[in-house]
Amino acid sequence: SRQWQLVRRPVGEPTDDDVALVPVDVPDPGPGEVLVRNAVMSVEPYMRGRMSEARSYVEPYALGEPMSGHAVGEVIASADPVLPEGSWVRHELGWREVALVKAAEAEPVDVRGFDPALHLGVLGQTGLTAYAGLLRIASLKPGETVFVSAAAGAVGATAVQIAKAKGCTVIGSAGSAEKVAFLTRELGADAAFDYHDGAVRDLLAAALERAGAAGIDVYFDNVGGEQLECAIRCMREEGRIALCGAISTYNATEPVPGPRNLLLMIWRRLRMEGFLVTRHLDLRPDFERDMAGWLCSGAIRSVETTVRGGITQAWPAFLDMLGGGNVGKTVVSLTDR
Ligand code: NDP
Repeated sequence: SRQWQLVRRPVGEPTDDDVALVPVDVPDPGPGEVLVRNAVMSVEPYMRGRMSEARSYVEPYALGEPMSGHAVGEVIASADPVLPEGSWVRHELGWREVALVKAAEAEPVDVRGFDPALHLGVLGQTGLTAYAGLLRIASLKPGETVFVSAAAGAVGATAVQIAKAKGCTVIGSAGSAEKVAFLTRELGADAAFDYHDGAVRDLLAAALERAGAAGIDVYFDNVGGEQLECAIRCMREEGRIALCGAISTYNATEPVPGPRNLLLMIWRRLRMEGFLVTRHLDLRPDFERDMAGWLCSGAIRSVETTVRGGITQAWPAFLDMLGGGNVGKTVVSLTDR
């Protein structure tokens, strides 16, 4: 069995020299443990943060140890009565073909009703992030205008669709003409723009006009930086900004400047709140019920970029995702099923 280890901390953009794919022996599960053959694993932007030494809300990856992250797989050996062989589980020990998981830290998932990849994406923490950010943090109401950045990505594509399902006007930004077309033609966004196409303040203002919107009520921020400042400029009174991510800054080697127009937050009585999905797990029953309903009715579809070729492709898939090569949730298939 093989696993990806971090061997050097990246400075700026990560490179192939920062990691190694290492063969390891497959252990036997001890009491309360199960051995899981991972079928799919997730590569996510927050992993870039864990490659740095700086402490954040989550432990940095240790050098010379396997990296971790969400995965879904089948129990192939079990020393726990609750999870017999043949069970399917979601857990946190991705980046490896076979994982020795404590049964208490593995969560059974339904792979008959839903493809394993959905438990990483739209039905997993990705979907919950969009749901918690829009509905709890930003208190989204039907009829409001929502702006979503990185809108063609995993969290973004889900946020766009939830906002549409709630009867909102939705503007999205993304990094290519294909993604812009995907947002308006496939996901129902009312207007979208490629943030490379000029000054974001002009692109955003034009997109709002195309959508017939007077301004933004809710900004779901995945990228920070220039797009955040421009969104503040276009917020309506009593608008809400859910700070979900700041991917435009993750490879920065110097402190990044903040928005220069925070005074508008006072004048327009805006609210801006950062959140971590892991602090909103109490929403899961509501989220899973609503999302299963939206998936079954066709109001929301799962959008995925599936990377095939097994464990060797996990690192290239991570780099490609950071660079915007994905549409929707990036899922690495480890079994090529
Ligand atoms: P995505 O699937 O959205 O992949 C990342 C995307 O970011 C890329 O596809 C790329 O799309 C875009 N991107 C990369 N660089 C830049 C840049 N400089 N400026 C603008 N966009 C850029 O990943 P996720 O959906 O998993 O994550 C989206 C955001 O949500 C991240 O910021 C992540 O950290 C955050 N997050 C936060 C959570 C929380 O609990 N707060 C939980 C999960 C995710 P493009 O082609 O459009 O540039």
